[in-house]
Amino acid sequence: MPECIRCPALCASRSQIVMSTPAPLGGLLAIGEAPGEKEDEMGIGFTGQAGKTLDRLLAEHGIGREGYGRANICRCRPPENRKPTRAEVDACMPYLAEFIEQTRPRVLLLVGGTAAAHIVGTGSLARRIEMSRSPGGTWVDPAMCHPALRSLAAQRGLLAVPMPHTSGLAWNRKTPAGEPWSEVGKRQVALAVELAQREG
Ligand code: SF4
Repeated sequence: MPECIRCPALCASRSQIVMSTPAPLGGLLAIGEAPGEKEDEMGIGFTGQAGKTLDRLLAEHGIGREGYGRANICRCRPPENRKPTRAEVDACMPYLAEFIEQTRPRVLLLVGGTAAAHIVGTGSLARRIEMSRSPGGTWVDPAMCHPALRSLAAQRGLLAVPMPHTSGLAWNRKTPAGEPWSEVGKRQVALAVELAQREG
């Protein structure tokens, strides 16, 4: 894979591009915002503390680390762990679309509000999560997702389950309704696993 230089600020801050890992047998693909310090250092997605929390949640359903795929909407670590800008997401999202097209995961597990906003639509994460639990609510609406994913969502259909970010800071907070995000996260992981098994 040649070095991508589309985002000047990220090229200056990254150690390396963190490549996506396919979901085995087209199962579950976890998609985060961008690599953190540990991921940037190791070149492997979801290896930091937030990744460990996700590993633990999936292990409760019998899914080990080798049992799910990993990707980010932005494959290079932003400086100071800031959020990727819209232009950076726009530059990187075609890579994610190509990866999804080629590896065909059954279910996208969207970890955190930023990944969710670019795939199932902007607005309150709590509301997006609530919508995902209604009948048919896990189908990605082509009108709401990032333009790079639009034709995939329209032609083939994409199933996505948003969940709260698993970083310590986000995980230990509460939703606007007062429920711990960690409880919401466990429920969403269970929904994604159930959906992946049902569609398999
Ligand atoms: S974030 Fe994506 S598009 Fe931007 S430089 Fe890195 S790999 Fe390229």
